[in-house]
Amino acid sequence: MRSSSMRIYLLTGVLLAAGFQLKAQAVRCATASRIEAPQTSSGDLTTRNLRHFGLVFHILYRDSSEHLPDARIIGQVQVLNEVFNSPGAISQHIPGEFRKLKSPAPFHFCLASRDPNGNPTTGILRKATGDPGIACRRENGRRSLMSSSLGGEDLWDPTRYINIYVVNRDRCPAPGEAIFPWDANAEEDGIILDLRAVGYSGNTGENSPYLLGLTLVHELGHYFGLLHLSANLRDCTGDDLVDDTPAQGREYFGCPGGLQFSCGSSDMYMNYMSLVDDNCMQLFTIGQVDRMLSVIEDYRPMLASQCLQLEPGGAFDRIGWAYDGAYWLLSGEEGTCWQAQVDLFDSTGKLLWQAPADCYGRLLIPDPHSGIPGGIYYAKIYNDQHLRTLKLINR
Ligand SMILES: [Zn+2]
Repeated sequence: MRSSSMRIYLLTGVLLAAGFQLKAQAVRCATASRIEAPQTSSGDLTTRNLRHFGLVFHILYRDSSEHLPDARIIGQVQVLNEVFNSPGAISQHIPGEFRKLKSPAPFHFCLASRDPNGNPTTGILRKATGDPGIACRRENGRRSLMSSSLGGEDLWDPTRYINIYVVNRDRCPAPGEAIFPWDANAEEDGIILDLRAVGYSGNTGENSPYLLGLTLVHELGHYFGLLHLSANLRDCTGDDLVDDTPAQGREYFGCPGGLQFSCGSSDMYMNYMSLVDDNCMQLFTIGQVDRMLSVIEDYRPMLASQCLQLEPGGAFDRIGWAYDGAYWLLSGEEGTCWQAQVDLFDSTGKLLWQAPADCYGRLLIPDPHSGIPGGIYYAKIYNDQHLRTLKLINR
């Protein structure tokens, strides 16, 4: 009995230790909170045309368990497009005084379809590394994983691509980190993510509290010049340089709920630039979107037009699809993007899910947020000129 209990105790200890590393990362983000950030220019922000950003994911893996499937990356891109460029429902979890401030950002993200030399690419690169310390090591002040000479991988031209490094960060202080635009240079720029915080994993909850793919949303906020709302915890004079976010004199973790106060006002802890759990994050404000647009104009002007332009209707005819064990993947030809409305029906004809696929190269059906039980489904994919219906069997 004693030895059996001991085994259970030891096993529990091992499991706790295995799970502890992620859960212990209560601080989402290693990007410095208290910094001297520049004010932005008050340029003409009347144009809210969609900005198109090309992403390249550099996955540095030690073994096959760290070799994230493409579907996880494609799902992450879908999450970005839903969060940034969608008005979204106003959640009851946003206090009334903040609801009118919620704003979409006119950003569209795609996986890069051409590499810096103009050759076709999936935008997903993988490189084996036997170096367990590379995730957060610096040598001579440089981040090793952003340098092939230090065992990592060089950036793709950071004036044209958003470089996202994915690596096991269990030995690092936080799962995510971004480089501010005013700190970036040709050798160091972009975002670093723990592999468990990439994409949507909510169906299993295995990566709680980072299970909705919102760590990258938060880090992109930094990458576009946003600060934490708690920019200065010493007193209430610190500010995130955005007018419509209240000063915040304390930090929030988990999901506090209800009204919370500091600095004499209600705190917007449910902001994407807070440190709460994914399931608690609800909004960017109008002021934050304005700041991101200004920062892009000031610091990253060449980034915003990197997705391919829409192909003529013929490209839609050539969309193929495949089942990868968890999702149906719709793909255009290499290097093309296509535009369609996608509706998913069950076998009784009930509409289950709908998405505008705006210049996607690849799209997961159903959306990563929408796990569906086994059964027969129909996906209707259409635009002005074309209609296709796919019968889908989810086993
Ligand atoms: Zn942060």
